[in-house]
Amino acid sequence: MADLAFERAHLWHPYSSMRDPGPVHMVRSAEGVWLELADGTRMIDAMSSWWCAAHGHRHPRLVAAVAAQLECLPHVMFGGLTHAPAIALAERLTGLLPDGLDRIFYSDSGSVAVEVALKMAIQAQLGRGHADRTAIATARGGYHGDTWKAMSLCDPQTGMHSHFGAAVQIQHFVPRPPIAFDADWIDDPARNGLGPVEDLFAERGAGIAAFIVEPVVQGAGGMWFSHPQWLAGVRALCDRYGVLLILDEIATGFGRTGALFAMEHAGVTPDILCLGKAMTGGMMSFAATIASRQVAEAIADGPMPALMHGPTFMGNPLACAASCASLDLLAEGAWLRQVPAVEGWLRRGLAPAREFAGVRDVRVLGAIGVIELHRPLDMIRVHAVCRDRGVWLRPFGRLLYCMPPFVVTAGDVARICEVMVEIAGWP
Ligand code: PLP
Repeated sequence: MADLAFERAHLWHPYSSMRDPGPVHMVRSAEGVWLELADGTRMIDAMSSWWCAAHGHRHPRLVAAVAAQLECLPHVMFGGLTHAPAIALAERLTGLLPDGLDRIFYSDSGSVAVEVALKMAIQAQLGRGHADRTAIATARGGYHGDTWKAMSLCDPQTGMHSHFGAAVQIQHFVPRPPIAFDADWIDDPARNGLGPVEDLFAERGAGIAAFIVEPVVQGAGGMWFSHPQWLAGVRALCDRYGVLLILDEIATGFGRTGALFAMEHAGVTPDILCLGKAMTGGMMSFAATIASRQVAEAIADGPMPALMHGPTFMGNPLACAASCASLDLLAEGAWLRQVPAVEGWLRRGLAPAREFAGVRDVRVLGAIGVIELHRPLDMIRVHAVCRDRGVWLRPFGRLLYCMPPFVVTAGDVARICEVMVEIAGWP
């Protein structure tokens, strides 16, 4: 049995202190929606391990694809070399994405995919003769990763990286899109959130390379579902002011919101798109940044025609093979039944939480359920209760949320909701 005392002394966990890392469970194995702990306890992974395991853990088709790839080519550098899985994945991605959004750069994590997107935008503006367009704009309440430039796009005052202070280069922020996904749209720009975007572009647009946003669902920055019309309005403003639009679908991509990509709710196509997380079905870390042909052409026209990025594990064949198998599962279409069913179960199961004094809002979209509380939760107590009830949840602050694998049953979702409602009802 692995030594937990050794792990506590030596292993850092995400967003944790080495002195007091808080409780961690030892996981022995995972299959379907289930995590099995070292002592045999089983928990439903209501988090899909942070949005990744959309088809459930260790899906046999994904395991077989990776095993077959291991037999012939686990890894090879992508500089000057290529391989069939990389091409097969590119064929699948271009088949799924809007026409013209088809110049693909593979990388190894979502944060890096965002960094690459920002480089693409700045290099493309340079290629179009706009050397001054180097700033990035975004909406408050977003989350784009933990690398330096990505951090600068999370809220610098109140966001999780605010203590880095002046070390994080501040970008331009507009307020969080104010109108909720299912609320009535208001045409008045002063109230629908588009006014501040237009004001920013009118004042500073000549220095802005791109506007980056998570389409419709802002994830780790607040689990907020915004009105698709806001995104459509931002697209129009970007076009009017020559600002490139980057959509970060790292969390929302591949069916999670009920559409294959969340941008489809708004009928919007970006200039640059970031994908990650569920692309491999949660088998391993992998991501892609996809530029339009025009962006790729503009970069090639620039003083530095090469896109200046090249991670060691770029295009890793195992990750490409897992992604191909994952996209094949999506193409078979079960998610089109599963995600709306999960949405219905979550709506019913979480509704009782609306009655509690400590609950500010309950919202559901696709296979994402959120209970927003007035006060932050006691994480140690949540951790213990999750183990007791057999449901793995990982709230942050006042946000208690789930995004289970699409293959959950009605019974699994009922159990997840029961635990979430129980926690939301704590005095
Ligand atoms: N962008 C979004 C929208 C995310 O949700 C995340 C991770 O949660 C990232 C970027 C960063 O991805 P990674 O953790 O793979 O670096």
